[in-house]
Amino acid sequence: DNFFTYACDDDAIRVGCRVTVPFVGQGKRTGYVFAVGDEPPQNLDGKKIRFVAEVDASRSVSEDAVRIAEWMRRRYFCRYIEAISCFAPAGAASNRKKKRQSALEASGVSEASVLPPELTQEQTIALARVTPYVEQERYGVFLLHGVTGSGKTEFYMRVAAAVAARGRQVIVLVPEISLTPQVVGRFIGRFGSDRVAVLHSKLSAGERFDEWTRIRNGETDIVIGARSAVFAPLENIGAVIVDEEHETTYKSDMAPKYDTVEVAIKRAARARGLVILGSATPSIISMHRAETGLYQLLTMKKRYNATPLPKARVVDMRRELEQGNRSIFSSELHARMEIALSERKQIILFLNRRGYSPFISCRKCGYVMRCAECDISMTYHKQEERAICHFCGKRVPVPEVCPACGSGYLRYFGVGTEKVEELTREIFPDAAVGRLDLDTSSKKGDIHRILKDFEKGRTRILIGTQMVAKGLDFANVGLVGIIAADVGLNIPDFRSAERTFQLITQVSGRSGRGTEVGDVVVQTYAPDNYAIIAAVKHRYRAFYDTELMLRRHMKYPPFGDVVQVTVLSEDGIAASEGAEALQEEILSAFGRSEKQYILGPHRAAIPKMGDEYRYRMYIKVRPDRRRAYEKTLAVLKKKMNTGKERNCRMIIDVNPFSLM
Ligand code: ADP
Ligand code: ZN
Ligand code: ZN
Repeated sequence: DNFFTYACDDDAIRVGCRVTVPFVGQGKRTGYVFAVGDEPPQNLDGKKIRFVAEVDASRSVSEDAVRIAEWMRRRYFCRYIEAISCFAPAGAASNRKKKRQSALEASGVSEASVLPPELTQEQTIALARVTPYVEQERYGVFLLHGVTGSGKTEFYMRVAAAVAARGRQVIVLVPEISLTPQVVGRFIGRFGSDRVAVLHSKLSAGERFDEWTRIRNGETDIVIGARSAVFAPLENIGAVIVDEEHETTYKSDMAPKYDTVEVAIKRAARARGLVILGSATPSIISMHRAETGLYQLLTMKKRYNATPLPKARVVDMRRELEQGNRSIFSSELHARMEIALSERKQIILFLNRRGYSPFISCRKCGYVMRCAECDISMTYHKQEERAICHFCGKRVPVPEVCPACGSGYLRYFGVGTEKVEELTREIFPDAAVGRLDLDTSSKKGDIHRILKDFEKGRTRILIGTQMVAKGLDFANVGLVGIIAADVGLNIPDFRSAERTFQLITQVSGRSGRGTEVGDVVVQTYAPDNYAIIAAVKHRYRAFYDTELMLRRHMKYPPFGDVVQVTVLSEDGIAASEGAEALQEEILSAFGRSEKQYILGPHRAAIPKMGDEYRYRMYIKVRPDRRRAYEKTLAVLKKKMNTGKERNCRMIIDVNPFSLM
């Protein structure tokens, strides 16, 4: 993770070039040019400087990319090469024709030019606020808070058209391409597939490279993709549009652990372009930035077709139990499902937990089956007849007798989507049922098929995890049933209330997108929770106010960053001691009173992964300390990861998407 000096007599050399260089003891290595000068540095003997072996222009990145990579390294504690590699293409050239077809296939749309409709009043007002920025090529960040179905996508397309008309380019980011085929389809329908590049995860390395090259050569105006598309090689970015900006998929969980919205803002600022962050449930952080003037707020409160937002009812599952109903369906949900089916409406049942049962436990002695790698409870998957760890993926047969007491009383507890499907088929034998979760969509084309079956009415009830919560727009959905709204509330994470609010709002928004008001039934054991109440009543503001107050009190984002530090070692004691020593170093750098901002160190929620034991510490970094922490942690990380004294290593994640 260092800079090295080489000579080069190729005049085309510039910052961002990818080069192959001879490297002491290691043959040839690739690298990127971070600076170019005419004279050798003072401390080096010019005669000893070796020459660059090759300049690979076809994979070079822009100077902006290099500058942003420098910033990423500091912000996300990654290495230069990890940051710069985000901007560079993987793979080598492939057969072009094939690739273009697969992009079209993925969107399910063929070439068609759909004329833009007349804008609603709210859309017109929003566009008028943005237009001066487009015309004057100014930097600005807008947060579009628009209820589900208010016409946000239409607004994005207008902004994109205006930007493209000036010869500038647009990046459109969606949480996940395969789950939002409709957004992609609408952009292609409006702009034509020649002008739109779609970057999705199903592209092969070669297809990716071709698409990257096509974008860099300026052959497209619009790039659509999931989070990594924020690095698309555009020279003249006029706008970066982030749809469903609150989604957790925008935070990378691999090095570099970047936040897509932050990178989008960096890119737009350098290019003097716009950022549009759109959501029906903006993240608390984004809304707070809008409130404090960092972003400009655009609001769309009416649904395009004027259908009121769905009516949601809360069912207290504790009361159901008191009344002797042990089913996962409350009497209310059961009755509404029968009505919806008799009216030939479709139903979405949502439960954010896959598998059959989340616990395998012994009735006699209380033993709970845990993953041998991660030590967390294993989920029973009935069809596969396996116990599966949802963190590391380990799969083992379920033992016939209890490994602890030898009795035959091992049972499955709790409900996942697989069990919801089984019970639904039992109770509604005449209704065709589909299920969309990670287990049913492992093969290419699965998601497309499951969604198509539902769209065409071949399935009447669709059961799923958060995969059914995203931008689906099916007019015939009359009822959404949320099986257990509080699943996520008990996760120890400062965002659990926010996630719960967002998920209930998003899933509910799938109901009543046609002309009739939709129905929503929310089942919960926590009917008094503020997030659930606010979501059911469509009160974003009330939720935001309560949540912000709690965050301020607890010094959580947006009032600083949460920096997660994980110390790993194959030796459990070394990991624990390494984490303790780290805390001591931090306290000696910042003073003992800093302890109040540090949680831990303690064993991680997943105490072991692979061969390594994990200890965790969370630091609440206040804004005025950010720079100091960036420096201190970078030094400590380097020391631990390269030092020999302990066999520990350290991973840092700034505002991680999960505290597990
Ligand atoms: P959102 O992205 O906010 O959920 P969409 O952009 O999907 O909303 O709009 C909801 C529906 O209303 C879509 O079917 C869309 O085609 C339609 N729609 C949005 N704006 C207009 C408009 N100005 N004229 C006609 N139809 C519109
Ligand atoms: Zn595991
Ligand atoms: Zn037992």
